[in-house]
Amino acid sequence: MLLGQLADRYGRVARDLRVSLTDRCNLRCSYCMPAEGLPWLPTEETLTDDEVVRLIRVAVEHGGITRVRFTGGEPLLRRGLEHIVAGAASLVGSAGRPELALTTNGLGLDRRIGGLVRAGLDRVNVSLDSLDRARYAQLARRDRLDDVLAGILAADQAGLRPVKINSVVLRGTNEQDVVPLARFCLERGYELRFIEQMPLGPQGEWRRDDMVTADEVLAMLGGAFTLSPVDGPRGPAPAALWQVAPDTTQPGGRLGVIASVTKPFCGGCDRTRLTADGQIRSCLFSRQETDLRAVLRGGGSDEDLAQAWRLAQWGKPPAHGIDEPGFHQPGRTMSAIGG
Ligand code: SAM
Ligand code: SF4
Repeated sequence: MLLGQLADRYGRVARDLRVSLTDRCNLRCSYCMPAEGLPWLPTEETLTDDEVVRLIRVAVEHGGITRVRFTGGEPLLRRGLEHIVAGAASLVGSAGRPELALTTNGLGLDRRIGGLVRAGLDRVNVSLDSLDRARYAQLARRDRLDDVLAGILAADQAGLRPVKINSVVLRGTNEQDVVPLARFCLERGYELRFIEQMPLGPQGEWRRDDMVTADEVLAMLGGAFTLSPVDGPRGPAPAALWQVAPDTTQPGGRLGVIASVTKPFCGGCDRTRLTADGQIRSCLFSRQETDLRAVLRGGGSDEDLAQAWRLAQWGKPPAHGIDEPGFHQPGRTMSAIGG
């Protein structure tokens, strides 16, 4: 285990930190959260803004982290988000200032984007599974499509280009949205990523056979556009990228499919995760967490925190094992881990 980096026993080194800022959300996407919500973390168990910044500092200065993504739950529900982004933007690691990104459902992004850019935010991914108001409301269980679209437009106008859009496709629900979503993004210069649905929603509701695979999504796109694979090393990036040729109806551009289940990219995974209650998860599907909050609140030094983090990352499993017979869904849902 090398000082200064978060390595694991399979030779992977974490560079990308996902920070969940809250487990709460103002939507209830069916693949992520039950309709009734979840028992939320009590405030005293949630890291304070300054505690979050301190742990990011440890990861950047002592753990070799170069990219930080804020997520949740819905990170825009965190009042101190701008303060946290500004704190992270002031850090300098061995590779300089970390790149700062936000994954959000977009609600209220139009009102916050100016402050976030001033605080140092570099990139934004907005989740959008349908452009049809009724289907959006069915999937997210809230009628908020217009607010999301306003958030996306504001991010684009604020210069966070290219805005990235994340979409999950559910069988029998929004397959007809695949091509319209692609057209919408190509026309505006947004980069779309389709993500395979993973077993991280309400317990017991995921069925392998119901999942719309990346190949199925590609077949739908191939029926409407001329696609060619984008060559070059994929590195740790999970998305397989495709170039869409321009035609008379739309400009060209790039889109990606993330085959997390059918073509896992665990061998190249460079992520580590911090939950809103200060637990380290070396993998989305970890069954173990390391309690960094206890070290922090117990008066631990930066080096104590870094050492606990290194140990946690050293135990990162080789792969998520979704397709293996003994697979068990983790106890926390995507919203509580941080997607
Ligand atoms: N609330 C924010 C949002 O929706 O972008 C951030 C948190 S959300 C958990 C992050 C990403 O995880 C979203 O793009 C969402 O679509 C995706 N996601 C949630 N549950 C998922 C699942 N079961 N399988 C695949 N992706 C999922
Ligand atoms: Fe909320 Fe994001 Fe989960 Fe949807 S995917 S319920 S917006 S956390």
